[in-house]
Amino acid sequence: MDLSKSLPLVILLLTAFTGCEKVAPYFDTVKEALDRNAEEEAEKLNEIALEDIPPPPDPVKMEPVINKEARVSILGYHDFTEGNSSNDMILNIDDFRNQMQAIKDAELPVISMRQYLDWKQGKKDIPEQCIMITIDDGWKATHTLAMNVMKEYGYPFTVFLYKNYVGVGGRSMTHDEIRELASAGGTISSHSVSHQNMSSRKGKSEDAYREWLKVELEESQRFLEENFGDTGAVIKTFAYPYGIYNDQVKEMAKEFGYEACFTVNGKKTNWEDDDMEIGRYVVHGTTLANFDPALNFGGGNVTSSGRKLLTESKNEEGEEEAPLVTVLPPANSTIGNRLPLIEVNLSKLEGVQADSISMRITGFGKVPHVFDSNTGIVSYQIPQRLRAESVGVQVGFRHAGNTEAEIIGWNFSIDKMKDYLSSEATRPGENDPVDVPAETSSTTENSRPNAKPTASL
Ligand SMILES: [Zn+2]
Repeated sequence: MDLSKSLPLVILLLTAFTGCEKVAPYFDTVKEALDRNAEEEAEKLNEIALEDIPPPPDPVKMEPVINKEARVSILGYHDFTEGNSSNDMILNIDDFRNQMQAIKDAELPVISMRQYLDWKQGKKDIPEQCIMITIDDGWKATHTLAMNVMKEYGYPFTVFLYKNYVGVGGRSMTHDEIRELASAGGTISSHSVSHQNMSSRKGKSEDAYREWLKVELEESQRFLEENFGDTGAVIKTFAYPYGIYNDQVKEMAKEFGYEACFTVNGKKTNWEDDDMEIGRYVVHGTTLANFDPALNFGGGNVTSSGRKLLTESKNEEGEEEAPLVTVLPPANSTIGNRLPLIEVNLSKLEGVQADSISMRITGFGKVPHVFDSNTGIVSYQIPQRLRAESVGVQVGFRHAGNTEAEIIGWNFSIDKMKDYLSSEATRPGENDPVDVPAETSSTTENSRPNAKPTASL
């Protein structure tokens, strides 16, 4: 029997048949029961109400978009000189400067260790192709020669120091010099205590070897933290002395919490690479054998015939002729819109094979372009705001009379301030305010990722 429904009836009956005086105690009891009942009902209502109202939607999570196609070329340097050296580990400082210029000419951004790690750990994105610079050991010339070049170019860099060669006189850096590196954009990381081959046991027992590895890994880091931790420049990464390691060294470095360990295996780093085995191109003083491949990101490099398609040419009468292929936004232009329409006009080329066309854009990798065979225009509307300040586009295709695929490439830049001011007008398809520099169509040389350093190297 449902008490809540029958109680009023009970009260009525009791009142009618027995009179008010006798009923009073009953009435109080019943009233209490009714009050109690009402509270319960209210609670029930509350419960129902809470269940029925859907929870508010989760706030939109701004997960970083990580470009897993990005690759990083990590350069490894050692010592520098103003003169010449036959020692491969000592690089002439002018050659070093030329190499930094070659990186700039190739428009390859240089990232810091923190940026690299954040990308690798899925926290923040990096440009699709970039460079990281590391300098090992702690030679004095890192401070006296290389630091100024890094300042000149504004490149971040990492110095891997080993404890036994810090502040010990001779050609080692002093503590103050290392602190200066830190304030000039240098990250400080570990290169062991004693700079010995870590995979060599040298007759040590298993226990003694393990204990020794522990000291090399832990004590070196502790020392850097203690002496330079206050600069905020110490990051827990490690460069294996001579690039030599074994599984046990890797395992222990991981256990000890190193965010990344670096080898001298000359290869670019992919997103999925083992953090305890990151490759580096060690740049030698006497040859560019390692530097050139480091800057060559391959696979999508602009072809020389592709480059000519974008440049003006002279006909037989010596008159300037417009480029065979035109692009938007124009090469080397600065636009105030992070959502531009990318266009390549191939209408002057014959027999372009539609299925051979591909387009790659900085930060997006390969994109689903549209090809209109009537107009000969390949286009792609940037769907989300471009994050990079400098954007590179590469378009590959085949056309009649050319057996090799052509690859054209160009760069344009985003004017941050204009973009900010015109954010209302940055809808896709809007006409972009375009500033075309005087030299716009002269060359796309600078967009070439494999631009070679000057001949003097
Ligand atoms: Zn070393």
